[in-house]
Amino acid sequence: MNAPQKPSVIADDVVVTLDYTLTVDGEVVDSTAGIDPISFLQGYENIIPGLENELYGLKVGDQKKVFVPAKDAYGEIDPEAVVEVPRKDIPKDIPIKTGIELQVSNEDGELMDAVITAISKNTVTLDFNHPLAGKNLTFEVTVVDLRAAEPEELEHGHVHGDDFDEEDEFEDGIEYLDEDDEEFEDDEDEEDETDNSNGTKK
Ligand code: ZN
Repeated sequence: MNAPQKPSVIADDVVVTLDYTLTVDGEVVDSTAGIDPISFLQGYENIIPGLENELYGLKVGDQKKVFVPAKDAYGEIDPEAVVEVPRKDIPKDIPIKTGIELQVSNEDGELMDAVITAISKNTVTLDFNHPLAGKNLTFEVTVVDLRAAEPEELEHGHVHGDDFDEEDEFEDGIEYLDEDDEEFEDDEDEEDETDNSNGTKK
């Protein structure tokens, strides 16, 4: 294999390795401190676009503080994403308590994360908003490494290799999930199977 030249600055098609700390309402909610940095492919919305857009031109070792308003992060809170369902529709193995997180498949069979926010005699209120919806995010980032992407990575629009572990805090924080990401599970066959589709998470 020919080794492509190492990119000197962050640009589209560059694999970026990044340390970050995410602060919301003055509180650190996510950080790579003490764990591996994240790697992603720049220019493919692997991370939230409001952060990605501020990274262009940075070099290895550069640090930057990036403020991302809610509308450019996980969006504003959508009142229509809060729904009341009959209590009997909740699977028996899921405890009915506020704060319990569960996954519900929609008519397309896609799993959607929800949290129980209210309970009445016959109904349960599920909130499908992202936990960070409506929140302004402040990232402090440090560029750890840059490399050229492999052709297959460009084709898939994401990074391959051992940097993709399914840290829960990573999913909740920086990673921008969309329907295409289900591809991950299929093509990372050298990785350990990580089941993140349990009914409940505590
Ligand atoms: Zn892939």
